[in-house]
Amino acid sequence: MAKISIDNLRHSYLPFPNPDREEDYVLKKLSIDWADGGAYALLGPSGCGKTTLLNLISGLLVPTEGKILFDGVDVSRFSPEARNIAQVFQFPVIYDTMTVYDNLAFPLRNRGIPESAIDPRVKEIASMLDLTSTLHKRAAGLTADGKQKISLGRGLVRADVSAIMFDEPLTVIDPHLKWQLRSKLKELHQRTKRTMIYVTHDQTEALTFADQVVVMNNGEIVQIGTPIELFEKPNHTFVGHFIGSPGMNVLPCEVKGGKAFFAGQDIKTANTHKGSGQKCEIGVRPEFVNFAKSGIAAEIVKVADAGRFRIVETRAAGSSIKLLVPENQSIPTGKVNLAFDADHTQIYADGWFAGGKL
Ligand code: ATP
Repeated sequence: MAKISIDNLRHSYLPFPNPDREEDYVLKKLSIDWADGGAYALLGPSGCGKTTLLNLISGLLVPTEGKILFDGVDVSRFSPEARNIAQVFQFPVIYDTMTVYDNLAFPLRNRGIPESAIDPRVKEIASMLDLTSTLHKRAAGLTADGKQKISLGRGLVRADVSAIMFDEPLTVIDPHLKWQLRSKLKELHQRTKRTMIYVTHDQTEALTFADQVVVMNNGEIVQIGTPIELFEKPNHTFVGHFIGSPGMNVLPCEVKGGKAFFAGQDIKTANTHKGSGQKCEIGVRPEFVNFAKSGIAAEIVKVADAGRFRIVETRAAGSSIKLLVPENQSIPTGKVNLAFDADHTQIYADGWFAGGKL
């Protein structure tokens, strides 16, 4: 296992020397350290550059600028074989005609490991993945989730890999089985302590698997944090909106003397903003908006039942503001007043948390 460092990485698919404008780069300047043994998720919408970053780490692509280091060694120009990364893809990569046992043994046999060492390792991995009873069946006979478990097993079976990278590994799995494989992966990380990087556009998958989530948008890392940090302290309005269901309310505001004003009212916030000339917004999650006796005048436009709570959509000063109301709490009708929890209300300038990083 290795610590993986990304140092000022930029990537463009245009051949050198053609990339000269910022927009020619699908990955902007990225720097990040992935600690040895960490469980990371790389989360972002389609096209934000997740697969490009994964392919740069595994060696399928060579970066236009910057370096990739494994334990301090610059591997930016090493072949994928020399980097020794195990990858699990969206679709199971297995040999249908071989048995489950032979599929799991394959990466070890390929490296000339003796059968006496292979046998206990294959059995250990099969047991972790609940594949023991199928070991002598042909892989072709297994269901999609069974086949993807073999793929996971092939990634896990070698003890010497630098890291294991998963690229949307649950895409082909039935929704009701997804949570099982998701929790299995989390358990496997806890048992094996391998460096794992899990790429997904699905926030539930990212937040349940990872200790640290790296959120990307438009080729940039917008925040690296624990699931709680991403929820409670979004560093960018994109993170606030992308994570959470429904996402954070983002409201245009004016800033005077460091304070935010919305709908003509002074809004108490967790941070202040000193700069000028930027687009300023207030971010507050629906969980931290409440009905109040006085406050921001709003009108209820929609109530949607979401099980244990209701999502109430209101309009105030031309903006939509959502709030979550528990099922046992009554909802007023018509005109209402809203109050925001000041500790969880932030000012953003040009999208970023004002006053520097949280
Ligand atoms: P998805 O979840 O849809 O796979 P992603 O976040 O993994 O998206 P990438 O596949 O890395 O994103 O794509 C990032 C950007 O690079 C996109 O604009 C995409 O069109 C572009 N891109 C990807 N591969 C190539 C390529 N081989 N040549 C040119 N442009 C590419």
